[in-house]
Amino acid sequence: METNIISELITFIEHAPTAFHAVAELKEILKQEGFEELKESEKWKVKPGKRYYVTRNNSSIIAVKAGKELDNYSFHVTASHSDSPAFKLKENAEIEVAKKYTVLNTEGYGGMICQTWFDRPLSLAGRVMVKNGERIETRLVKVDRDLLMIPSLAIHMDRKVNEGRAVNKQIDMLPVLSGSVKEQGEVRSLVAEELGLKDTDIYGMDLFLYNRMGAVRWGSNREFIGCPRLDDLQSAFALTKAFTESTPAEYINICAVFDNEEVGSGSRQGALSNFLPDVLERICLSYGMTKEEQICARSRSFLLSADNAHAVHPNHPEKSDDEFPVVLNGGVVIKYNASQRYTTTGMTGGVFGSLCEKNDIKTQLFVNRADMPGGSTLGNLLSHSFSVPMVDIGLPQLAMHSAVETAGCEDVETMIEAIQAFYESEICQIKDGMWRI
Ligand code: ZN
Repeated sequence: METNIISELITFIEHAPTAFHAVAELKEILKQEGFEELKESEKWKVKPGKRYYVTRNNSSIIAVKAGKELDNYSFHVTASHSDSPAFKLKENAEIEVAKKYTVLNTEGYGGMICQTWFDRPLSLAGRVMVKNGERIETRLVKVDRDLLMIPSLAIHMDRKVNEGRAVNKQIDMLPVLSGSVKEQGEVRSLVAEELGLKDTDIYGMDLFLYNRMGAVRWGSNREFIGCPRLDDLQSAFALTKAFTESTPAEYINICAVFDNEEVGSGSRQGALSNFLPDVLERICLSYGMTKEEQICARSRSFLLSADNAHAVHPNHPEKSDDEFPVVLNGGVVIKYNASQRYTTTGMTGGVFGSLCEKNDIKTQLFVNRADMPGGSTLGNLLSHSFSVPMVDIGLPQLAMHSAVETAGCEDVETMIEAIQAFYESEICQIKDGMWRI
């Protein structure tokens, strides 16, 4: 069972070099499960008992199972993100170097570990806007061959390379495209050829570098998976899987995957946007709910924000709080932070913890060392636009934001079980601070 899940996860991640592709894959999974597409630009008639999904920018997606129970209803929501740190191609990216090479001009997207992008085969993927008669349409593109590489500077030219060398993204991180001088427009031609189009058919491009390396299972018992973009496609996959496979209690169940978490979530389709509140309000309007009823429903609701979590690093255990040794294959991580960068409180963590205990699901707790600020995620940003009780959870991993991250194989199944239990539960805040689980 577990092996099947891991190979499904690997296929999903390999088909998802960018957030656009991730959402296309999620759409496909949902369609196969009988979900109908709702369009933001059209009127909705959401029917109790039916299943839907809606996308924004083709890079965020919200799937809905509309419950039948309309009295005292509430929302069971999970959230994760579709994007990962990468390098985005600039317009007119081709740059000539030493009259011999063509390199591509890029800028960083999110906080990647730059060193891990050197000396590995890379290629281009993303979306392009294409002219089709009187319309401009979105097309996905993935150049499926080893096209680019960012070669390291030899140690002989940089003797201090192993003593902590700074990496300048404008200088060090430009990938080499060719051993000859190519004119501007070469990338556009290459993409057009890939799509069977003319160069002049392409009007806009959002292209990213992606790591060509596939996933590997490793460890003496093959207990680990090493793979690009585990943060946060591993959660997006597990949450969607649990969502489609759960038999929901009579609530409105939502599975949301947002773009742009790695750059602060502040876009039209990010967790800070009105995407989720809009979707929920429109469902309520379809149900004929008043504004007051909607606010009541929100107060009863519960949201799990899932993003990967740091396991104790074997060579640097001192970077973690000794009292909270998060380990790979140790189960779902519940994250706490006094400054509320994670939304979990004693109350919401207790509610979720008791649900996991009831269903025999392994959990572990994460907190940052008090002398380290740590990372942040989409949960607390989501609460700006959709304020409901929340818990920040995640799957333990090593090497977060490396071009190849490592996670535990067993944890994927554990996360799916936890989320399935959540969707099938009757978790509900009966009154402020009092919960049914
Ligand atoms: Zn993340």
